[in-house]
Amino acid sequence: MTTPHPQQGAFPLFRFKGIQVSLHWSWLLVALWQIQRNRETYDLVAFAVFEYLALFAMVLLHEFGHAFASRSVGGRAENILLWPFGGIAYINAPRRPGAFLWSIAAGPLVNVALVPVLWLLLHYGLPESAGPDTVTFVYVLFQINLVLLIFNLLPIYPMDGGQILQALLWYRLGYPKALLIATGIGLVGGVALIALALIYLESVYSALLAGFLLLNCWKAFQASRAMLAEAGPVDPLQAP
Ligand SMILES: [Zn+2]
Repeated sequence: MTTPHPQQGAFPLFRFKGIQVSLHWSWLLVALWQIQRNRETYDLVAFAVFEYLALFAMVLLHEFGHAFASRSVGGRAENILLWPFGGIAYINAPRRPGAFLWSIAAGPLVNVALVPVLWLLLHYGLPESAGPDTVTFVYVLFQINLVLLIFNLLPIYPMDGGQILQALLWYRLGYPKALLIATGIGLVGGVALIALALIYLESVYSALLAGFLLLNCWKAFQASRAMLAEAGPVDPLQAP
């Protein structure tokens, strides 16, 4: 299981500023399953659907953060894919630590910006007539945004936190060595995440997500070793 090609098995949703947003077919299956799980939170099933759509809207804003930040430093960004494990912005940032750091950090910064927006909406933005489902919905959005922010900042490569760590190390150590250290830490974190998902959360979905991260971390770890050994080719960047 590796990161899918942006158009393979996916259908185009819309284009915005030259960025094609696509949806992977498997998203629909997981959406049905997740909506089923969210049903108990609300009186009306429609709110469970809204919640899942809102989750992906927030993920999409996060990915646009990566894409526009990458462009702002001279990089390329033409595709965003939404799939059951979140979103992927396919970016090609210039090979400089500063440009790379900004391209990665901009994603979580979108979630940081959403914290006060959702907080104000929750406390002052809802009309008096808002029903319990509406209040719960906005409250859940606030929570989801926080979870997305914290989860993305975990220093587990290729999560944003792991890539931010890599960018910071890159300033002093160069690209391959920074990648080696970041992915080394990521491998330990990835294994811990799988254990946490299986033992603590008892969530197969979370374990699969952690397994996907671990596999990609392992591939990047091997790539960094190959680069250090023979200064081999460098893969394009992908920001989750
Ligand atoms: Zn991200």
